[in-house]
Amino acid sequence: MPVQFKFCPVCADPLGEKVDPDGQVRKACSSCNFVHYENPTPVVAAIVQRGDDVVLVRSIGWPETWFGLVTGFLEREEHPEVAVVREVKEELGVDDVQLGDLIGLYSFERMNQLIIAYHVVIQEDVEITLDANELEAYKLVPVSRLKPWPFGTGEAVKHWLASRD
Ligand SMILES: [Zn+2]
Repeated sequence: MPVQFKFCPVCADPLGEKVDPDGQVRKACSSCNFVHYENPTPVVAAIVQRGDDVVLVRSIGWPETWFGLVTGFLEREEHPEVAVVREVKEELGVDDVQLGDLIGLYSFERMNQLIIAYHVVIQEDVEITLDANELEAYKLVPVSRLKPWPFGTGEAVKHWLASRD
């Protein structure tokens, strides 16, 4: 879940609430007038294709049956195209990463994220070495058997599959 601020990040007083002229309730600091807008965080996601398969990954702590796309946060001043290639290189331990098309933009409301999803291609015979700090497992799913899940990045999978028909 997204981080919930309790204290003002500017002056450290407890955050209260204020109501915007348009009726939105915001967390705000009455001492220094800082307003915490809670804007969604951009997250890049990659549908990583390796030959006829897609690479799905399981983050540390996820249930054993959960697998998802390679995802990550943008670094400061980093373009999403650069970020998604960097994340695939880091998380899968591969050097040769070809950026494909932008699939689309998706709201992941529960996590307060904006997902920026790309198709990315790695070499068919490349060895995958997971980033052990973040990931526990990966699996290769034939594109023909890939099933979108009903939340978050699943919509990107659905659109990508539809675009291939
Ligand atoms: Zn403050």
